[in-house]
Amino acid sequence: MGKRIYNFNAGPAALPLTALKEIQEEILDFKGSGMSVLEVSHRSKWFDDVINEAIERTRRLLNLGDDFRVLFVQGGASLQFCMIPMNLSLDARPVDYINTGTWSTKAIKEAKIQGKDVREIGSSEERNFAYIPKDFQVDEDAAYLHFTSNNTIKGTQWAKFPHSGDIPLVCDMSSDIMSRAFDVRPFGLIYAGAQKNIGPSGTAMVIIREDMLERVPDYLPTMLKYTTFAEKGSMFNTPACFVIYTINLVLKWLEETIGGMENMERINREKGAIIYDFIDQSDFYVGTADKDSRSLMNVTFRLPDEELEKKFVEEALKEGLGGLKGHRSVGGCRASIYNATGLEAVRALVEFMGEFQRKQG
Ligand SMILES: *Cc1c(COP(=O)(O)O)cnc(C)c1O
Repeated sequence: MGKRIYNFNAGPAALPLTALKEIQEEILDFKGSGMSVLEVSHRSKWFDDVINEAIERTRRLLNLGDDFRVLFVQGGASLQFCMIPMNLSLDARPVDYINTGTWSTKAIKEAKIQGKDVREIGSSEERNFAYIPKDFQVDEDAAYLHFTSNNTIKGTQWAKFPHSGDIPLVCDMSSDIMSRAFDVRPFGLIYAGAQKNIGPSGTAMVIIREDMLERVPDYLPTMLKYTTFAEKGSMFNTPACFVIYTINLVLKWLEETIGGMENMERINREKGAIIYDFIDQSDFYVGTADKDSRSLMNVTFRLPDEELEKKFVEEALKEGLGGLKGHRSVGGCRASIYNATGLEAVRALVEFMGEFQRKQG
């Protein structure tokens, strides 16, 4: 086996080694089928067990009540940007959005394209999205309040979710779903592209509260209705079988190896503390997000100049630390430390950062 690196990619991103090994073990003969999971029918008992297990694990991990449905929808998080206003807006009522960066901006754009009455009730754009807004007023008329729980590119994260009273929260949790324990009840819909924290690319996980399904207009195309996915168990057409299979293995690791959301959150907090404490005592590395808005998933930072940043990313890779380049739209450096990137990877990163600083500083 080739050498594995410490993987700080933003997405697709690191997967737990135990999940990868299970894939490897089962790849030629899945559960005695004599076929790989890539080759079995999505209508077979084998795949039925896989998707049901993935849903049950999601239910247990997030403590979902009976009124929540777990769906798998292809098209990534980006298709959700358009499906949400299409399915969940209500006639003559505005849809509220909080703009905290690139992904929120795209979600807002898709609602506007459809001619919805979009109100941006909060934004941190005037300071290049370096913080999570605190002052905003949710309209009691709004059909929903949309926000992005973790801003993958800007390196900010909601420490506490917004309060919206009776207005359902709709949240893009692509880059921090399953990273911490939280109360799902105020959420009408949660969605996440799988490729950051729970699996490979190719599907979004959508968790929808049943009362939201009543909003879905009849006239929508079949494949763009949440009701289609709910009624057909995400199998109106062929789902992303291999992706869902891998998600199930990642969730199994979360349940059985990590021991659930509280443990995962504790580990993620420890990882975040190690790297942010290091950045804070350094005058060489500078974090880009306000301290009270920092992300525990994507740590964004700058070095004294762009030449050094380039060198940092290159030298890190030589030392077996990959994926540290910032998003092309913002530059700088970014360490994505999702669930599957463990404490030892974060310790190795901080050690490398220290050495690099000593050599250059
Ligand atoms: C990556 C990302 C997306 C886009 O996901 P796709 O599955 O590629 O469409 C959307 N929102 C957030 C917060 C992301 O991190």
